[in-house]
Amino acid sequence: MSRGRSQKGPDGITRVERELDRIFSNLGHGMYVVDNDRRIRLWNRSAKSILGWTEQDALGKGCRDFIGHQDDGGNQLCDTDCPLVATMGESHTIFAGTVWAHSKGEELIPVNVSCVPILDDNDNVVGAVEVFADMTREKEVDRLKSDMFSVVAHELRTPLTSMRGYLELVLTGDAGEITGEQKNFLEIVDSNVQRLKELVDDFLDVDKLESGRMQMHWEELDVKRLIEEAVETLKPQVQEKALKLITQIEEAPAVMGDRQRFQQVVSNLISNAIKYTNEGEVGVRSGWDGEKVFIEVRDTGVGIPEDEIEKLGEKFYRASTAAKTSSHGSGLGLSITYEIIRKHDGELRIESTEGKGSKFAVYLPQARERTIIRNQGEAPHE
Ligand code: ADP
Repeated sequence: MSRGRSQKGPDGITRVERELDRIFSNLGHGMYVVDNDRRIRLWNRSAKSILGWTEQDALGKGCRDFIGHQDDGGNQLCDTDCPLVATMGESHTIFAGTVWAHSKGEELIPVNVSCVPILDDNDNVVGAVEVFADMTREKEVDRLKSDMFSVVAHELRTPLTSMRGYLELVLTGDAGEITGEQKNFLEIVDSNVQRLKELVDDFLDVDKLESGRMQMHWEELDVKRLIEEAVETLKPQVQEKALKLITQIEEAPAVMGDRQRFQQVVSNLISNAIKYTNEGEVGVRSGWDGEKVFIEVRDTGVGIPEDEIEKLGEKFYRASTAAKTSSHGSGLGLSITYEIIRKHDGELRIESTEGKGSKFAVYLPQARERTIIRNQGEAPHE
């Protein structure tokens, strides 16, 4: 049987070769083979139907000259981050995820790519195979989901803002006198409306971050002043829980950042420290450590189990210790905080001991270190 499979037919092709050729041609995924110079040696039918280039167009051509993969930001990957080069260099499979490929119709098509090296009998790399799936439909579904999400969130936000406005009128007595009991009830309504509004705002922020629509308004920020302001705003919450507040806010060089987003980060970290601490203290320290501007928020709260710390950047993730406080939350705030810090070229480090407390420290480069395209108001890497 095996002899039959390796025996050549009248056309000089073995049965195995013919079978492989049939599989290669009829595979539902686009697939092509390149040599060490990234010139196309094989091009299957699905590659043609996804990208439009025929076998004739493709064979012998350098893939960078017509497919030219790009990332989501429109950056060419061929010279810097080519998955074929990576697979040939590292001799193992590379899953490059979804990138963009140029079609014959001059469109950019989203494709999910994986690459495998081809080795000869002596294990020398002689080329690579790229397999890719058309992701057009998935991208479209993602876009529709994101649009729907954004419309629903905006539609919810408007009536919630109006409800808060009217509640305030009633609560302050501007709409007539109310009894103590009515005031208590309305305060409960108000805090729930506020919670809903925060949730909707978080949803909108996640959507903006994921779709790349979050606009940053870059300016030089005085960290000391901003932290002092944030601490001042959150003082009533500290007092309400009878916690001790310790601050050490020192001068630091300016950082390049978005004022509103920066305030959001600081306020998320301090309000979490308050929220997840039942007794003891909350400390806020900031300054310059000789290399970076730092902001450190620590508490003596419920802490986070060690194996959960790395999951805190995930959307909707709440640590198991969160239930030890009477706090509500969605697990979105910290994932937004992570992303905003990343957009500022910063880093968030978390240390925590379950039952003892946590320390959240943000490190940011000083403004001078960041090259900003000032006239466009955009950071270069966005
Ligand atoms: P939320 O409070 O809405 O759940 P966050 O996204 O801000 O959301 O935080 C995610 C989770 O991280 C929280 O649910 C909590 O489990 C944990 N966490 C954040 N800050 C602290 C803290 N200072 N101490 C203990 N756990 C914290």
